Amino acid sequence: MADMRLIVAGAGGRMGRALVRVISETPGTVLAGALEAPGSELLGKDAGVLAGLPANGVMLSADLWTLSANADGILDFTVPAATIANVAIAAERGLVHIVGTTGLSVSDMAVIKSVTSRAVVVQSGNMSLGINLLAALVKRVAQSLDESFDIEIVEMHHKAKIDAPSGTAFLLGEAAAAGRGIDLHARSARGRDGHTGARRPGDIGFAALRGGTVTGDHSVIFAGPMERIELTHRAEDRTMFAQGAVKAALWARGKAPGFYTMTDVLGLAD
Ligand code: NAP
Repeated sequence: MADMRLIVAGAGGRMGRALVRVISETPGTVLAGALEAPGSELLGKDAGVLAGLPANGVMLSADLWTLSANADGILDFTVPAATIANVAIAAERGLVHIVGTTGLSVSDMAVIKSVTSRAVVVQSGNMSLGINLLAALVKRVAQSLDESFDIEIVEMHHKAKIDAPSGTAFLLGEAAAAGRGIDLHARSARGRDGHTGARRPGDIGFAALRGGTVTGDHSVIFAGPMERIELTHRAEDRTMFAQGAVKAALWARGKAPGFYTMTDVLGLAD
């Protein structure tokens, strides 16, 4: 089969540059285009040079319709508004759409899912093997422990992160809620401040810390009456998210239209 031709959206960003490097090292993939925001000062720059590689002749562009004329997939780690704008074009062009952008609202997710009767989308708030394994463990532990164990999710990220709690924290919250058989949206406690009253039994709590250069730390704490279980993952380099995204694209190539997650890609589904 010919190499998979991939567009990197947000090619000037932290994840975008990591994706350009990983594509250059991954057999069976080739960089077909580099997308950036309209008006960005990086438009016209070489994607390889920006990623710390030799020049590769792929210049940053803001025109996805033109870039996608000759591509198989798009790796999208940008901002929600950009991802939502990319959804329709990717579906129209028949591209596999790998969505890593976080901070997506319920209505953003509805837009993404609206194209999956005719397009292949893989979406995950965290593309790493470790976090997806952790989510499977969290679901299993939440199934075993009743509401006498309070579930709290604590995350820390670098100071430039713009959304909170992280997409990964939600992913872990969804796993815990699935294990408990509850609806996360109805049962989550987000951001406590002032006179909050006592903790509501059965809620899943979130806390977000920001500072320094932390790539991403997540802990899920099961706090019981006389004991506590803490499951923790620490990301040391964002390259592994990029590797996960490229792996997802290769996995999704040729799949039937549908909405998939990293649980499917990694074969971790129940
Ligand atoms: P970042 O460095 O700010 O990069 C985002 C890039 O997207 C920027 O270069 C930005 O350009 C660009 N962009 C904005 N609007 C765009 C548009 N309309 N078209 C194309 N590009 C556009 O952030 P990051 O650290 O790389 O993270 C990006 C996203 O990925 C975040 O949502 C983050 O939480 C998520 N993430 C997900 C995972 C995962 O495994 N799922 C892992 C890490 C990060 P400007 O700077 O010019 O606006």
